[in-house]
Amino acid sequence: MLDLSRFAQTLGGASGISRLMDDLGKTLAQAGNTIMLGGGNPAHIPEVQARFQACMQDIIDTPASFGAAFGNYDPPQGNPRFIELMSTLLRKQFSWPIGPDNMALTNGSQTAFFALFNMLGGTCPGGEKKRILLPITPEYIGYADLGLEPDLFVSLKPDIELLGEHRFKYHIDFDQVQAKLGQDIGAICVSRPTNPTGNVITNDEMNCLGTLAKGAGVPLIIDNAYGQPFPDIIYTDAAAIWDENTVMCMSLSKLGLPATRTGIIAAPAEIIQPIARMNAVMGLAPGGVGPCLATELIRRGDLLSLCRDLIRPYYSQRLAFAEERLVHTLAGLDYRIHVPEGAFFIWLWLPQLPISSFALYERLKQNGVIVVPGEYFFPGIDPAWAHTQECIRISYAQDLDVLERGIDIIAQEIRSICAAKG
Ligand code: PLP
Repeated sequence: MLDLSRFAQTLGGASGISRLMDDLGKTLAQAGNTIMLGGGNPAHIPEVQARFQACMQDIIDTPASFGAAFGNYDPPQGNPRFIELMSTLLRKQFSWPIGPDNMALTNGSQTAFFALFNMLGGTCPGGEKKRILLPITPEYIGYADLGLEPDLFVSLKPDIELLGEHRFKYHIDFDQVQAKLGQDIGAICVSRPTNPTGNVITNDEMNCLGTLAKGAGVPLIIDNAYGQPFPDIIYTDAAAIWDENTVMCMSLSKLGLPATRTGIIAAPAEIIQPIARMNAVMGLAPGGVGPCLATELIRRGDLLSLCRDLIRPYYSQRLAFAEERLVHTLAGLDYRIHVPEGAFFIWLWLPQLPISSFALYERLKQNGVIVVPGEYFFPGIDPAWAHTQECIRISYAQDLDVLERGIDIIAQEIRSICAAKG
């Protein structure tokens, strides 16, 4: 039996994200009958894929481009041409005051969060310990196990606004944020749109968080994996703000390119430089194929129009279908749906469910449908809070017939569990 280090136990132990990715990868690889409404895989949208293919074909057909994309290591900060184009695009699109010194690439934004959290949280040279504040949970499952040191996160419960009979929305409780910021916080992090809830934290809430972060002298990390300007899966009016205290994390994944593993960080230069050096130590350089493909998309003027004309409408159509189906099949039951404002998940709250959401996940898996149990999205929150076990996340990225079959099975199972309780 190998005597493994604490590092191996921390990163190599059982975790929510490894279970989720295992479910996802196996289901996709088997191409069997399992209905995958679990993982965060983006949809394969034929018109979008056709544009990616055309760009890739151009790269393949041009020896110099092919050589640059596949035959070179990029510098540790990432592909310079892509960084130049992307920082110019963001400056023009949003008037963000950024240049190439404010940008680094990573192998997926998941890797960016690993570096950022352990850089801004953990033990400082003077012995002081810093933590990462998640001001509103539920929050992205992928953060929970990223800390190299224990108790890296301080998570706060949300305020819950009940809307009508079957809707609700989470808000940030700013009194709690203020109380925590006086303590040992090294950075604040929020996903917007939020995975798993589809919440888009309001512009006022974002401004308030930005002001509090600045006042406390800590960076505000915004996980923009589903946000603007790409993939722009946002259905509300949300402003995309960046300043010298913001660390904006973006990704090519939810555009439909998760296999390129391309994460993009826009941040103050004093954060970009150590990130680039970490890239060199951990992997020599970030991958270059995704940036070359995205460079071609930007050069053709396709990147933003793809999002506006194809990607957002695709997900919004699926959302309308999934919501209607849920409302129809859950009629008469006690349920609430978080207002779906972005990303591609429905967050379903079942306040009267007599079993935990993890037990519901297991039962649904037996019945051929994969969802994600809510428990995983509350890192650091006391599990005695019943709400942590009353929600599931349903992805609506799948085709309509798959969604329909999946939702019908989910509703039937919930109905029969509630009926058995009597
Ligand atoms: N952040 C959020 C909110 C996500 O949902 C995901 C993936 O599902 C990631 C970050 C990581 O994405 P990637 O590493 O593919 O860029």
